[in-house]
Amino acid sequence: MARGVVPRQPARTGRQDKVRVKNAHVGTGAFARQGQGKASAAAPKGRQGTAGKSTPTSAPKIKGYNPVAPDRVTEILKRLDQLYTEVKCALTHASAWELVVATILSAQSTDVNVNRVTPELFRKYPTVEAFAALTPEQLEPDVRSTGFFRNKSKSVVGAAKKIVADFGGQVPDDMEKLLTLPGVARKTANVVLGSWFGKAVGVVVDTHVHRISRRLELTTQNDPQKIEQDLMKIIPREKWILFSHQIIWHGRKLCIARKPKCAECALENLCHAGDKTWSTVEMHKNAKV
Ligand code: SF4
Repeated sequence: MARGVVPRQPARTGRQDKVRVKNAHVGTGAFARQGQGKASAAAPKGRQGTAGKSTPTSAPKIKGYNPVAPDRVTEILKRLDQLYTEVKCALTHASAWELVVATILSAQSTDVNVNRVTPELFRKYPTVEAFAALTPEQLEPDVRSTGFFRNKSKSVVGAAKKIVADFGGQVPDDMEKLLTLPGVARKTANVVLGSWFGKAVGVVVDTHVHRISRRLELTTQNDPQKIEQDLMKIIPREKWILFSHQIIWHGRKLCIARKPKCAECALENLCHAGDKTWSTVEMHKNAKV
């Protein structure tokens, strides 16, 4: 979290002013019931109709709480399935190569911004060979608006040259080979393998997955590779691709970085993030961005 940004604490009444709870019906699983049961101890007293000044953070700890317990992880996945049914990659692309380019350009930028740039870019340079024939300097004006355009131009042109020279002009569907492309790290490789080739080799850890996995206490790590390893241990392989898409959408719609919309979140009573804006359960200091 940026320095100086103090998360809003839950109101003493237990309600966030002027916000209606939209998903109060969600969450009837075993863990949810357990969380709700404890919530009565953890929630602000005002919510229970009794006088007093205690806050959620002074509530007793949930006995035997394990944030990565299979029941809890299953319940989180179930609710994500209910919330985000048919989600897929938000980057516009029509080939593996276009997805490589769009993913490289998306670093430190937004998908909306990248999608504004790529249609014209792919019209101007329709093949990987066309990109390979460029110098990074020639590409720079076309990708300038995505930010960090010098590095991105170098990566895109370098990746195109390598694909043409070493892989016959075809984007490889193999993690090790993808990682040899300039500008391609595990995140980009996982995006391409999962969204284009349908191969679940790892879990995409972008800024949303990073933040929300920590908020949900699915990991305590800060390094994307370690976060990915943690997620791969607790999430079934057949869910790896979808999970990333769902969390990315959740991060855009509700679990935003600065001021998550917890009062509208269907995961609320499973989430103990220390920077929640509203809570019916105990908040954990370590479960935050
Ligand atoms: S309750 Fe708040 S912090 Fe937790 S997942 Fe939902 S929006 Fe994010």
